[in-house]
Amino acid sequence: MKTLLSNAKVFTHGSFLETNVLIEDGVVFSLSDSIDVLAADPSVSVIDYSGKYIFPGFVDVHVHFREPGFLYKEDIATGSRAAARGGYTHVFTMPNLNPVPDSIENMNEELKAIHEKACVKVYPYASITKGEKGEELVDFEEIAEYFELLDDGRTEDFEKKTSASAIKLAGFSDDGTGVEDGAYMEEAMTRVAALGGIISAHCEIKSILGGKNVHDGVLAKELGYKGISSESEWKMVERDIALSKETGCRYHVCHVSTKESVELIRKAKKEGVDITCETGPHYLLLNDEDVLAEVLKAKQAGTEGVITGTDGYKIKYGLGRFKMNPPIRSEEDRKALIEGIKDGTVDMIATDHAPHSLEEKSKGFDGPMGVVGLECTFPVLYTGLVKTGVITLEKLIDLMSIKPSERFDVEHGIEVGAPADLTVYDLDEEYVIDPDTFATKGRFTPFEGRKVFGRCIATYVDGKPVF
Ligand SMILES: [Zn+2]
Repeated sequence: MKTLLSNAKVFTHGSFLETNVLIEDGVVFSLSDSIDVLAADPSVSVIDYSGKYIFPGFVDVHVHFREPGFLYKEDIATGSRAAARGGYTHVFTMPNLNPVPDSIENMNEELKAIHEKACVKVYPYASITKGEKGEELVDFEEIAEYFELLDDGRTEDFEKKTSASAIKLAGFSDDGTGVEDGAYMEEAMTRVAALGGIISAHCEIKSILGGKNVHDGVLAKELGYKGISSESEWKMVERDIALSKETGCRYHVCHVSTKESVELIRKAKKEGVDITCETGPHYLLLNDEDVLAEVLKAKQAGTEGVITGTDGYKIKYGLGRFKMNPPIRSEEDRKALIEGIKDGTVDMIATDHAPHSLEEKSKGFDGPMGVVGLECTFPVLYTGLVKTGVITLEKLIDLMSIKPSERFDVEHGIEVGAPADLTVYDLDEEYVIDPDTFATKGRFTPFEGRKVFGRCIATYVDGKPVF
């Protein structure tokens, strides 16, 4: 079976080229200007993508698919479908599940679900501590060895396939909570370094959180809360940088949200520490004053609901759409993150796609933390950062696709011989983000009602259309 994706602008080796992509046996077989011979070949199915863009599929190193344990929020099927619809071909699932994937036995259910239901490549994280309780470390060596066996096909547990069900270990993380005890983190890093693995850390020190629900700033004041401090994030980043330096462990910081963390990471990189980090679209495009404005608008609108300026769209979901962990911070923090992506301090953008049920999120700022992102992140960033001239389209692809694949050892990129994991976008299409069109079970996103450019029109995994 051969498929020819013709006449698109294709992102290959760092820039765009107007060319044709021939896919055969799941890999990119050739990139070529002339297609006359191929187009005449009846064994080749030709799809015309004139005027469209083809990107290497996005790689999201931070999603929550809630299976096993919380299937009413999301599952591997709906989560991976949402990924495909957003242009993602690879997603890494966080371990705050039930059971927590802290042993081979406790990872089995998730691995089976991935194998049976995922339509994109889903790579699970194992936890750092048992039950993510911070009290006992997992058996890193046993878990790493098991995945090596899976990868080599030396175990019968899961049939080795070159399809979307091929499973690889993302790394180790206690996402959802910080590893508070420095001695445990030091031992974890020492052992993971010996395995050549990576630790992705959610940095949050509970004892100095200072407050709850939102960032400690103008919004917190208006709502009458004591807000969440910036130190609760950056002090753990600071500690972990020292530990990574000492142990040599490959270290990645999840969802960086404060200017202090950006500065610490910038300095650590200069000193040669093996560190990378991600931030999320909401930290790059929103500050707590924006959220405050939305709160005031909602108060004024009352039960009528807020009508946004964009085509008269009426907001359907409540203020819970602005609650996630870490919280949306100040304008100074947002600006520091923009500088961070520009100068390479911030390596990549992850969604932290974290769906909850309608009932849970309807509690507004008192509900659980987490918003969805897979189906709107590229369009909001393309519209908010590329169309406005803050960064180039090439840079956005680098942040969403190339950098995460390099750091987390994913074979990726549109080049001859590579797996055909790619996505097709129409960048001219303009529309309003409406969560009711999403495949995810989650509905709460801070970008509801936003007018954007860029619609994902197809996604291919190992050469097969998955959306
Ligand atoms: Zn987290």
